[in-house]
Amino acid sequence: THLARREVRELKGYNAGLSSEQVSKRFGVTRITKLGSNENPHGPSPQVAAALSKALMDSGLYPDASCTLLRGALAGQLDIAPERLVFGNGSEDLIAILCRVFLDHGDSLVTITPAFGLHTLYPHSLGAHIHSVPLLDGGRFDIDGLLEALVEPPRVLMFSSPSNPAGSALSAAQLDQLLNALTPSTLLVFDEAYYEYAKTSPDYPDVLAQLAHQQSPWIVLRTFSKAYALAGLRIGYGIVSSPALADLIDRLRTPFNVNRLAQVAAVAALQDTTHLETSLELTTSERSRVAQALKDMGLTVVPSLANFLFFETTQPSEQVHEALLAHGVIVKPWLEPGYTHWVRVSIGSREENDQFLAALAASMPH
Ligand code: PMP
Repeated sequence: THLARREVRELKGYNAGLSSEQVSKRFGVTRITKLGSNENPHGPSPQVAAALSKALMDSGLYPDASCTLLRGALAGQLDIAPERLVFGNGSEDLIAILCRVFLDHGDSLVTITPAFGLHTLYPHSLGAHIHSVPLLDGGRFDIDGLLEALVEPPRVLMFSSPSNPAGSALSAAQLDQLLNALTPSTLLVFDEAYYEYAKTSPDYPDVLAQLAHQQSPWIVLRTFSKAYALAGLRIGYGIVSSPALADLIDRLRTPFNVNRLAQVAAVAALQDTTHLETSLELTTSERSRVAQALKDMGLTVVPSLANFLFFETTQPSEQVHEALLAHGVIVKPWLEPGYTHWVRVSIGSREENDQFLAALAASMPH
């Protein structure tokens, strides 16, 4: 092991949580309610299944390395030049690629905390200096803190909005403030994994429109894993400020990073807007119901624009996690200092949410 780079030896690996298979094996429960990874319980469009079954027999061929059909479909929908898109094996692949392209040993990265683990894991592995600006009470973005962190321009500013795990988002005015503070020395990585859910709220800003006139470089990350329910196929994309920057990012991806079935599925999913709308409606109405139920139990819940809720528990989150597992319910306990009593739960189907709420009530001291 001493042959591995020091940064890697010191790294704490990503906590992907338990799979249904692991929980089933460990607890002998057959009915698993998986609410730990922000997946979409409503599944992909039936058109995805039809397109996949047609494409299956082409699996012997390498995928199209440039995602031509999907690129065209997305460029049309977004009304941008196709050369400004980059694709990844999930948006997590793009996060890793971006870090390798932009971060050298000793470079600095500004992000927020609590945050999606990969936003710091890859920068760490490359020896970058990380400055994490804590969210304020109630999950709000600390704009003053972020502006202060940008005074000495970092190489990269990376965060997600809606944020994970809090579910809170930057307002249009806050985003403007950030954009005004950025110089061409900093790449903005705006991770919009939960964009489709957020967009249903009138309060959520049009991030791409605000970025359209930005002089400094940026990339907006999106994914087919959440609202389009293709997490198992692994496909995400980035909208980049210029084709030249997209070309640089492309140099460090593995040539066939997006598999054939994922490309076919994404094109089909994009076309079925009715399925998407239904899925979004079901999730956002359940989100209000679950949030209210948690509040009725006396718990603090962060208002969320995404497909999950972050709430404060009465017991250590690890204990709540274990107690729920015994009921076959998987959630994500937060373990970092300051958040050891916080849990993130994905919004499932109505039935799954009821199972979660019942298991949580049973686990709470009476
Ligand atoms: N960014 C954020 C903020 C996320 O929450 C996730 C998934 N949990 C990802 C990126 C990665 O998504 P995927 O690789 O499935 O596209």
